[in-house]
Amino acid sequence: MNKDLKAITKDLFVSEGFWGIYHKLELLPDVRLDPFRTYVTKEGTMIGHYSIISTLRADRPDEYISTQNDFQIDQLEEGKDSFCRLIAGELPSICVSQDLTMSKSPLSIEPTLENLSETKVFSIINLFTPMARVMPPRENLFQINKKITKGIPLLHIFSKHYQAIEEVPIDEMVLYLKNIILTIETSQRSFSERDNSTNTVFHFYNIGSRAGASIPHLHSQTLLYADGGHGWKDHSFFLSFDQNRQLIGKDSFCLGCKYSKGLNVDPIGQRLHIQERIIWEDENWLAFTAYAPERDGHIRLLPKRHVSSLWELEAPEIISLAKALKFVNHVLSLFIKQYGRKLHIFFDRNILFRQKHFGFSTPIHMLIDIIPIQRIGGAEILDDHRLSHIFPEETAKRMKEGKKL
Ligand SMILES: [Zn+2]
Ligand SMILES: [Zn+2]
Repeated sequence: MNKDLKAITKDLFVSEGFWGIYHKLELLPDVRLDPFRTYVTKEGTMIGHYSIISTLRADRPDEYISTQNDFQIDQLEEGKDSFCRLIAGELPSICVSQDLTMSKSPLSIEPTLENLSETKVFSIINLFTPMARVMPPRENLFQINKKITKGIPLLHIFSKHYQAIEEVPIDEMVLYLKNIILTIETSQRSFSERDNSTNTVFHFYNIGSRAGASIPHLHSQTLLYADGGHGWKDHSFFLSFDQNRQLIGKDSFCLGCKYSKGLNVDPIGQRLHIQERIIWEDENWLAFTAYAPERDGHIRLLPKRHVSSLWELEAPEIISLAKALKFVNHVLSLFIKQYGRKLHIFFDRNILFRQKHFGFSTPIHMLIDIIPIQRIGGAEILDDHRLSHIFPEETAKRMKEGKKL
């Protein structure tokens, strides 16, 4: 444990930048766009690759122990990681919501010791955040030549120590999704009221150290950026949903809605093999292997009703999503256990919520991508590109042959 972290555990002393609280202008994180690949839209949004430079992030603890088996979950001792200690009231936190109730303002600057063991799920402000949440008055900011990154960094956590989604009971997963929706909406409102800003919202899971997690206790994150814009990859989805309407010649056309009815209608004329790729469905959600996988084993989830974000889902759709997440993560883990070594895919995975941002208008149909970590080479870094090892139709077949829940 580093010195600063030790200090806060003892005296609740807030080090510069912890929980996104800044006093010194020179330490504020900086956003840098690659000037060789930035494109400015008619509306003035800058699209390209951007890096957020936050030196504080280097101090994050890494609590993973060396892995015994790359292709299945490690069994780690529970109760030792920072989240278990925080739940027991041994580490301070800024806990903004517990179950279905907001408990602290998302702009709070007061970390406290909380006993969260009676709570099933909760959301806190990320201690090692890449963004400024509370900072010096605006009038001082002209002194520094930085494009400051502002926003609210949230961590959404289960009070029980789980390491994989398939371990979580459905009712807890439903409560978890509801806590996330409540926390994102409340945080966005409090930030936009204060700063009158639009908000980019990135919601995702890092599961396993290769997927970017530093704590092995199951959690997801939301990065709520004020006036953040977004990168080329995110923007390409919005552009595609827009242009599909022109290609088909119908303003109401949505590829997601066609998919959810099992209709193979592709605006760019491909044969989509939708039926062969479906691995799970009910009346509200569809799960299938991705047609053009980003990594082998890539699974995509789609709500059957046209919604553009997590916070537009209704109660029965949230229950279905909890079931879908549990099932598909289970079959993906079994698939990796059996074929991971051959395909070079690991148990570790990212779950990415592709959805609209607050204050942006887009016809996007919400998507959730579950992408295992796979060894990749230069071709995949050179472009948004994948040299794949297995047909997604075959991946779906093998996943369905796996053990059912
Ligand atoms: Zn834990
Ligand atoms: Zn749709």
